[in-house]
Amino acid sequence: MLRVAHELVEAMVAHARADHPEEACGLLVGPEGSGEALRHVPMTNAARSTTFYEFDSEEWKQVYDEMWANDEEVVVAYHSHTATEAYPSRSDAGIAASLGLPGAHYVLVSTRESEQAEVRSFTIAGDAADAEITEEPIEVLGAPDAVQTYRFAHTPEQTVYDCR
Ligand SMILES: [Zn+2]
Repeated sequence: MLRVAHELVEAMVAHARADHPEEACGLLVGPEGSGEALRHVPMTNAARSTTFYEFDSEEWKQVYDEMWANDEEVVVAYHSHTATEAYPSRSDAGIAASLGLPGAHYVLVSTRESEQAEVRSFTIAGDAADAEITEEPIEVLGAPDAVQTYRFAHTPEQTVYDCR
């Protein structure tokens, strides 16, 4: 289960919309060990592609140094799909394996529909050739009205709204 503030969901979707039709990528980070995302870090898609993403290695290093200095960790690594569903591709699983972020949530945002963004979360374990991709529910914290235009999963009952 990914629990995430609605502001951060909206930030990821806004970034994905802004970079459409290229794929957007970025991170949500939070205090080390908390599992709680507090900060949105939009990143550059070094591939500048409509079908692929890769983090810019220099930028990745800078962000990592900053997280290290702040005792933060990656809670979510996200990217967008601009013409296909919000489900990790084989290369996405390879990237997840190479990032080596145990416990991270991989969020996919699909901007293929202009009216409604699709937001789904996964855990990805194992190596690139034999990745185990598991979808997990998303619990959006706060302001359920604001997120009604997003479709979170194929099975609506998996999405829990917590109205605080
Ligand atoms: Zn992808």
